[in-house]
Amino acid sequence: MNAPLPDLATIKRARNQFIAALGASQVFFNEEDIASYRDKFAVDDTFHLPAGAIAPDSVEQIQAALRIAQENGIPLWPISRGKNLGYGGSAPVLAGSVILDLSRMKKIEYDEANGTVLLEPGVGFYDLYDFLQARGMKHWLSTPGNSWGSVVGNALDRGVGYTPYGENTSKICGMEVVLADGTLVRTGMGALDGSPTWQLYRYGFGPAWDQLFVQSNFGIVTKMGLWLMPAPESLMGMDIEFDSPDDLGPLVDAIAPLRREGLLQQSPTIGNWLRAAAVLTTRDQWTDEPGALSDKVIQAIRNRYKVGWWGVSLRLYGREDVNKAAYAILEREMDRLKPMSKKPAQWKQGEPLEASGWTGTPLTFPMQNANWHGGRGGHIGFSPVLPQSGKAAMEQFKRTYERYREYGMDYQASFAFGERHLINVNAVLLNKDDPAMMKKVDPFLKTLIADARAQGYGEYRTHLDYMDLVASTYDFNGNALAKLNQRVKDALDPVGIIAPGKSGIWPGKTGGARA
Ligand code: ADP
Repeated sequence: MNAPLPDLATIKRARNQFIAALGASQVFFNEEDIASYRDKFAVDDTFHLPAGAIAPDSVEQIQAALRIAQENGIPLWPISRGKNLGYGGSAPVLAGSVILDLSRMKKIEYDEANGTVLLEPGVGFYDLYDFLQARGMKHWLSTPGNSWGSVVGNALDRGVGYTPYGENTSKICGMEVVLADGTLVRTGMGALDGSPTWQLYRYGFGPAWDQLFVQSNFGIVTKMGLWLMPAPESLMGMDIEFDSPDDLGPLVDAIAPLRREGLLQQSPTIGNWLRAAAVLTTRDQWTDEPGALSDKVIQAIRNRYKVGWWGVSLRLYGREDVNKAAYAILEREMDRLKPMSKKPAQWKQGEPLEASGWTGTPLTFPMQNANWHGGRGGHIGFSPVLPQSGKAAMEQFKRTYERYREYGMDYQASFAFGERHLINVNAVLLNKDDPAMMKKVDPFLKTLIADARAQGYGEYRTHLDYMDLVASTYDFNGNALAKLNQRVKDALDPVGIIAPGKSGIWPGKTGGARA
């Protein structure tokens, strides 16, 4: 179901007004432009086709775009670099929205002494990496598996990396935001004009608002403060493989206390056997059997890459003396579990840096898994939040793996540690040129969401198609949280000019639901 698209005359008028305000070179409304902003991974991307896109390069241009959008009743869907692949890419929830592409806003302000940056939305992980490298790499990034996107967009959708600063959204410190009526606000200490502590103290005075603008549609973020990790003196750790599916539970129970006490400060991710194969090969190199991969093929994959059913990379960061002491404890705890293999990893300042997520180096090769099935590939994420318990992880794994086999899908999953929680990130790898498979994807995802809800689990992030459904599972007291979100939306943006439908939040004019 979709709201009616704005009529052609309205789109044409808006387009001309955008050209007058931003210049023709920043306004994109032809067919190729629209195609380039669609979500190539969506089950049916026609549901999310934008009317066009505009690329302002200043707060003033964003304010002008908002006025034009209001006047013509066309919603704007802000993106930073629009590489939110698996969750919607650069496409809007509501077809007919205009993409507000902020990728031209690329200013970086760096406070080297305090280890903070103030970033505009268009700054990509590669941009910031190059910037820091040119200044001696005194601070490290925390990059997501696909680092093609922006630092701001990733933190705004609560993306995660693998270093101690892996929970990017928790490192946000102060924002500049344009509200739907054009008001420019700075949060935290930024509300004091010219304050030197904007990027140092998160809360300011009174309510703290940064998270109000995360995974929401309450404003357009034009600057974000972020803490960076000081480059460590040394890095130590190990890559470990475990032979049996049943090893997941004890592994979670062994890592969780180390994570909670702080001996392990990074966010380790336990992943299954498909990781390497899905990136380095295509499925037809292994089998032409339909349905989920058989145990025989799984064993062949494991033999080729010498991987277990599960593997995890653990890393310690900081002073060498401290790391050495912590490593001995880590090794003892892991040896207790009798891993199939254990490969130590070590690095010291001055040595060449391993290009990996553990060192915050931007990467794109994991995206190659979109080609696993051949054809026009993609993946959609299913990512419920669990307690850090081996029993909960095992039950979630067994339930989900059974569903993958029932629907004939290849299992790619990971269990990513936060400080107190575990996120079970499942990638549903798909082939848009396989109609039989594509027919299964939507019912499969809905089943997974319902299974998780039945356990009291909700997703931390979801694809455009499932935002309403996931929001509806947060159902305490008659969906009181959704109603609160809608009241805030109505107070800030009553006609729904910014990203209607984002995270299941719709303006009151549609009755708080999709029209
Ligand atoms: P990336 O640049 O990392 O690829 P995206 O631009 O795809 O990230 O952004 C992820 C999601 O976050 C978008 O779909 C959008 O909903 C939201 N978002 C991104 N940038 C902004 C912004 N500057 N202001 C408000 N919301 C944003």
